[in-house]
Amino acid sequence: LVGLPVLLKARWAVFLGVLSGLLVAPVVLTQYDRTTAAAVGISMGLTWLVSAWLVFAMTEQSRRLKGMAVTDSLTGAFNRRYLELQVVRSLRDWERYNRTASLLLLDIDHFKRINDRFGHGVGDAVLTRLVGLIQQRLRKVDIVCRYGGEEFALLLNETSASMARHVGEELRRVVERGKILPEGSLTISVGVCDVTLARDSEHWFSLADAALYEAKRNGRNRVEQAPVLSEPTAIISRALPHWR
Ligand code: GH3
Ligand code: MG
Ligand code: MG
Repeated sequence: LVGLPVLLKARWAVFLGVLSGLLVAPVVLTQYDRTTAAAVGISMGLTWLVSAWLVFAMTEQSRRLKGMAVTDSLTGAFNRRYLELQVVRSLRDWERYNRTASLLLLDIDHFKRINDRFGHGVGDAVLTRLVGLIQQRLRKVDIVCRYGGEEFALLLNETSASMARHVGEELRRVVERGKILPEGSLTISVGVCDVTLARDSEHWFSLADAALYEAKRNGRNRVEQAPVLSEPTAIISRALPHWR
């Protein structure tokens, strides 16, 4: 029982270890003389200490590794792998429960010039500051991901296309006004697409990317939305029997 923390690899199991020690103590004290009881108590305590330490070390390490596996090391945003998993989940939630979601692809305008003018180090700091600014403005449940070099993807669950466009516009304004560059202002272009238009995750990304391309083509520092179809594609899959 004292070894439970290690066997269950859970922090709460440490308390089970203490509890088991307390439960066993009266039995040991009544059955054995003081010296034997003390020896049993000390050995149980030591076993508990070692197992508790092992559990804390293991859970901490696995938490750190899990974090590293889904995080971009420069900016602290989520990485593409994590986003792809969440996008699949949002698509499933839409098809099954009619829960809406929106994807925003966001690209820094003329970032190459920023690197050329201020140096790569400042370029890196700009990426990190931009992520900080975006995270400040979004809800805790929203997913901010570094999608490529200077390209970011935001997954906003429970957010319609019009709300997402509004968020994109606000971010665009905030970034333009924010003092992210040592001199002058940084601008971003944003492509928005909500889940109702997406056949699958690849299609959803391609629609958001097409909208981003439109924003670049229309002069940058803009938000564009994927064109709305007359009928949402996912209605077909939602018409499937509910047990599928
Ligand atoms: P556009 O407005 O069309 O998006 O122009 P752009 O210059 O932003 O786009 P382009 O794709 O031509 O250049 C992207 C640049 O981003 C080139 C690359 O050196 C830079 N970049 C990519 N990743 C990083 C990074 O991690 N750190 C820094 N400092 N620069 C990066
Ligand atoms: Mg760019
Ligand atoms: Mg780019």
